[in-house]
Amino acid sequence: MFLDPDNSEGLPVSSAQPRPEAGQRVAEKVTALAEQLANAGPREIVETAVRAHAGRLAVVSSFGTESAVLLKYVADIDPSLPVLFLDTLWLFKETLAYRDALVKRLGLTDVRTVTPSPSALALRDPKHDLAFRDREACCSIHKVAPLAQEIAAFDAWMSGRKRYHGGERTQLPIVETDGPRIKFNPLARLSRPELNAVFAAAKLPRHPLESLGFTSVGCVPCTHKPAQGGSVRDGRWSGLGKTECGIHLGPLPSPVEP
Ligand code: SF4
Repeated sequence: MFLDPDNSEGLPVSSAQPRPEAGQRVAEKVTALAEQLANAGPREIVETAVRAHAGRLAVVSSFGTESAVLLKYVADIDPSLPVLFLDTLWLFKETLAYRDALVKRLGLTDVRTVTPSPSALALRDPKHDLAFRDREACCSIHKVAPLAQEIAAFDAWMSGRKRYHGGERTQLPIVETDGPRIKFNPLARLSRPELNAVFAAAKLPRHPLESLGFTSVGCVPCTHKPAQGGSVRDGRWSGLGKTECGIHLGPLPSPVEP
């Protein structure tokens, strides 16, 4: 099933199936890139992604507690690379301020704030309370559907996930398929101390909520301070049996061809 062209309702959608030959080509490219990047560091991975997909590559960033590291590599290599920022309308005001500060500090010139479809909100979340009734549906219309619309213009994208986050991320590859697209994870192999070293070396600002004990920051209703000594993402959807919003759980849906 394909997403309606204008996705005016932003309803949950199932994954588009790329044509078999296109899927085969993407899979072959991913295999070749995985071999090429088997021992590469983050900078080389970002450089390779930029070279391989000039004009058709985007970065997806939450402007969360660790986002500055990938954005620093991006800014060093191509500050005009499109950065997609999903504003769910449930973000902390500190995250919005941090986004603005980082954009200025790093000189990023094409940060695109992506918001949910107004008609989807009117239909599915008119009282702005879906987050408390159905979190899967809430993530679907506030994150997955908007990103699916925006990513359609690109052949490849980059995320800032790391293996040390645990859970589904433990086996995170450096490069993977995402339906008809290629997804790069340049920081997959980085440890927390290595991330901290990049922050220190580049004098990158920290997310304002980190000093208050938040190790991972998402939407207000679904973010809590984790217990001392826990995993970095323990504060996300705590106690709800949910660990991912959905944008990384299988291929993003694609709009139907005109
Ligand atoms: S993280 Fe929470 S508030 Fe944000 S989109 Fe998902 S369910 Fe809604």
